[in-house]
Amino acid sequence: MPGFELFGPEERKEVNDVLETGILMRYGFDGPRKGIWKSKELEAAICKTINCNYTQLVSSGTAALTTALAALGIGAGDEVIMPTFTFVASFESVLSVGAVPVLTDVDETLTLSPEAVRKAITLRTKCVMPVHMCGAMADLDPLLKICKEHNLILLEDACQSFGAKYKGKHLGTIGHAGTFSFDFVKTVTCAEGGGIVTNSEDVYTKCDGYSDHGHDHKGVDRGADLHPFIGYNYRISELHAAVGLAQIRKLDQFLAIQKKNHSILKNILEELPEVSFRSIPDPAGDSHTFLSWFLPTEEMTRGVVAELKQQGVLPGNFYWFDNNWHYFRKWDHLRQAATLSKLNDAQQKTLMALDPAGYPASDKIMSRCISTAIGLLWTEEQAKEKGQKIAAAIKKVAATSLQVG
Ligand SMILES: *Cc1c(COP(=O)(O)O)cnc(C)c1O
Repeated sequence: MPGFELFGPEERKEVNDVLETGILMRYGFDGPRKGIWKSKELEAAICKTINCNYTQLVSSGTAALTTALAALGIGAGDEVIMPTFTFVASFESVLSVGAVPVLTDVDETLTLSPEAVRKAITLRTKCVMPVHMCGAMADLDPLLKICKEHNLILLEDACQSFGAKYKGKHLGTIGHAGTFSFDFVKTVTCAEGGGIVTNSEDVYTKCDGYSDHGHDHKGVDRGADLHPFIGYNYRISELHAAVGLAQIRKLDQFLAIQKKNHSILKNILEELPEVSFRSIPDPAGDSHTFLSWFLPTEEMTRGVVAELKQQGVLPGNFYWFDNNWHYFRKWDHLRQAATLSKLNDAQQKTLMALDPAGYPASDKIMSRCISTAIGLLWTEEQAKEKGQKIAAAIKKVAATSLQVG
């Protein structure tokens, strides 16, 4: 991770196909485009790769989430259960359709704790949105069971986990719908892009229209299309889809490299008694974009982060607890409901009630967690060296805390 590390002549060739015709838009212009349909081709390739019936490409992962929520009928006042550890796009998309984000604790899977989800359910809950963070999966069986019992929609945010699986099925294809991001730092990149995947023809048809001004795409020319409902413009361009098409053909290669480098790193850190690892409900399905590990205390974790920084090896090691984008503790703008235009009353009330100290169970996990990003370009030597430097930092900090203690 990320796919851009292996950008090359294959991506340039696909983009050039589009530049040759000059038809940069995914719809229409059937004659002049001379049979070049990169967006359609990428949608078919995604369906084939992850074994699902429908894919709708859009302009970003955030647009994919917004489109999926709308297509699933989630709107004003509906509550969406989402984790405290995710990317800001989770609450952005929920707010954008008028719904209420209900922040809910994570467990050692680094995403929704099924127990916490049960407690968060109210009469207004409509959807549970686990986020498959850092390349691996949520505890899906218990979450599916809860959704079934309470008649809730399960929307999988698989933006960070393209190619990962749970019990043989690709993430994103297990709930009512799933979303992917193909932004510049994801496993497969389009530069910017996203996709909604589903096995429901109804959900797909709604995504298809919603992301293109409500066009029904049944007319022979765009001008003749009908608009059964109101949509927006979240279209992807042919240039972006072209990049993704070359990238998705490299997915197996990306996954194989990640698995190898992940295992080199894990073998080294495993030797240390202080280190434990993220709980992964189906380890065989991990896409290995990150190795996420825990230390026994926040103090020790902060010590290791400081030591890595001092040695110049912090880049690539993420301490999410202090991160502005990924952990709710730093989402001041959300707690202040700092929007440019008015929210609805239910949204306003929920956001103003958010307490930075309100999620001690999440704090206890995230304050001890570091995720190491797995590079695609590392040599075996480099992977070992990275592992050894991290191990040395942990040993040094462990020794000093023993002396102090
Ligand atoms: C990247 C990401 C998104 C949003 O994707 P963009 O394409 O950057 O809009 C949403 N959710 C998660 C978990 C992500 O990592």
